[in-house]
Amino acid sequence: MNIIIFGPPGAGKGTQAKYLLKKFNGFQISTGDMLRDEITKDSEIGKRIINNMNDGKFVNDEIVNKLIENCIFDPEKKNKLIFDGYPRSLSQAKNLDFLLESSDQKIDYIFFLNVDKDTIIKRIEKRKIIEKRSDDDLNTILKRYDTYMETTKPVLDFYSKNPNFHEIDGSLKIDEITRKIETFINV
Ligand code: AMP
Repeated sequence: MNIIIFGPPGAGKGTQAKYLLKKFNGFQISTGDMLRDEITKDSEIGKRIINNMNDGKFVNDEIVNKLIENCIFDPEKKNKLIFDGYPRSLSQAKNLDFLLESSDQKIDYIFFLNVDKDTIIKRIEKRKIIEKRSDDDLNTILKRYDTYMETTKPVLDFYSKNPNFHEIDGSLKIDEITRKIETFINV
């Protein structure tokens, strides 16, 4: 079973992905975490992406596509993929479809956590205190939200026609969202 958790920054994608990976023995594919790792390691990729990430801009498709390609073709992760933060653009969504098809896989569930801008700002300001992420300051949050509205929203139109697409109120409490997700997943 492969799952996409989709939604704006601060929607709670990572939190729900972590729950699902424990419950279903899955693998969280968080492009944000992978990119932050590259920055921490001060790798070549890390050096190329640090400015974009700190500015709330997207990282080049070529880099993120390569990161997820490695996961999709990893036999250990096959049909256990929980995508969190990917795809974020129409071209990424099409790339994902292509890679899944090439590896004889499909998306079983797409959960869209819908949250309004004010809630996002409040949540991310709280998260900044706990996680100390450099892209969680107010200016960057606003840029990340704008980037989401411009580039990521079209992905919704792409997925909303899919019978496995489910919209969930992302302003609910964590366990309420989890319960809603569980009502759709039949195992
Ligand atoms: P996240 O942890 O998912 O909120 O991602 C943090 C930042 O990483 C984003 O603001 C982007 O700069 C970058 N990023 C994460 N995932 C992607 C992606 N799929 N495409 C492009 N940039 C991404």
